Amino acid sequence: QPSFTEDFRELLSFADRVSKLEVWANADTPEDAERARGFGAKGIGLCRTEHMFMQADRLPVMQEMVASTDRDERLEALGKLKVMQKEDFVGIFKAMEGLPVTVRLLDPPLHEFLPKVPEMTERLEELIAQGKGDSPEACKIRVLIQRAESLKEANPMLGFRGCRLGIIYPEIYEMQVEAIFEAVVELMRQGVEVYPDIMMPLVGTYEEMRRLREMVDRMAQRFEAELGRKIPYMVGTMIEVPRAALIAGDLAKEAEFFSFGTNDLTQTTFGYSRDDAEGKFLAEYVRMHILGDNPFHVLDRSGVGRLLEIAVSEGRAQREDIQIGICGEHGGNPKSIAFCHRLGLKYVSCSPFRVPVARLAAAHAAMGLID
Ligand code: PEP
Ligand code: MG
Repeated sequence: QPSFTEDFRELLSFADRVSKLEVWANADTPEDAERARGFGAKGIGLCRTEHMFMQADRLPVMQEMVASTDRDERLEALGKLKVMQKEDFVGIFKAMEGLPVTVRLLDPPLHEFLPKVPEMTERLEELIAQGKGDSPEACKIRVLIQRAESLKEANPMLGFRGCRLGIIYPEIYEMQVEAIFEAVVELMRQGVEVYPDIMMPLVGTYEEMRRLREMVDRMAQRFEAELGRKIPYMVGTMIEVPRAALIAGDLAKEAEFFSFGTNDLTQTTFGYSRDDAEGKFLAEYVRMHILGDNPFHVLDRSGVGRLLEIAVSEGRAQREDIQIGICGEHGGNPKSIAFCHRLGLKYVSCSPFRVPVARLAAAHAAMGLID
């Protein structure tokens, strides 16, 4: 828990009374969620579920699942992953009792989750040197290398990512939604107040949104029947490719909330690779940028802000009470927070450690002290 002085606590609660924007946090673990709540977050705006599989004991299962071409094999790995995720969801929902938790379904750029070919090749050579080139382990490694090679993409950040994966392999997203609802039902039975919001990544077409929403509603009905009452869930989408902003009115037919993923939206609006924006050449170019501000930090005048305006007005025209927030890195930047205030968003979601600064910035924006 943060050790704020009484004066600082008082200042932050004054800031909250003045602000029109709520401050939520991005958190992927129960510990992060607790920390976020301690810093005053009023919800979780982004739980990146792919991050739940990066730990050393979980990554190999995830790698096998992603590289698998066999449905049964994939289902077996998914079963293991589901148990791990459910435990994490229980912890996060408990830490955020009474507040909304936005869980984003898997968005794994493939290169981060494919088995690593150099490591596997090294292991295979070791086995061959030991005369175990035909062992079951060696055979399995050969298959994995072949699959990893065949799934390699030239531009993984623009490749088989986000909801594209969930559309092609529905069982992956179904496993996750099941894990979410199992956790919710368990906690609701214990009297814990849970508000799960399920969010789709990288949506760019109405059909993606419609299919995925239908899947969640179908699963929810099953769990509601088991529980004997309604689950207070919502289904929504990230707005993180320009097309999603442009067709926000259509998406709002199926989505009860939008969350701006301005990291991808900036990348795709400018055509700057987000992974290289801090690198030598692009960083220098971005610094000399004619707009003055780094567009990965500041929305104003970047054109990305214009896409947010379009999405907000299209979304609200279709669904008046649609909930709209932001969960990209911009959500922790004071100038961008002022922009979000002017757009009338419900919340900004940022890293737990930025929550206090974001609370102050939201108040400054409401008082007209930042423009
Ligand atoms: C984003 O794109 O802004 C976002 C929040 O998602 P991620 O950073 O996980 O791609
Ligand atoms: Mg994104």
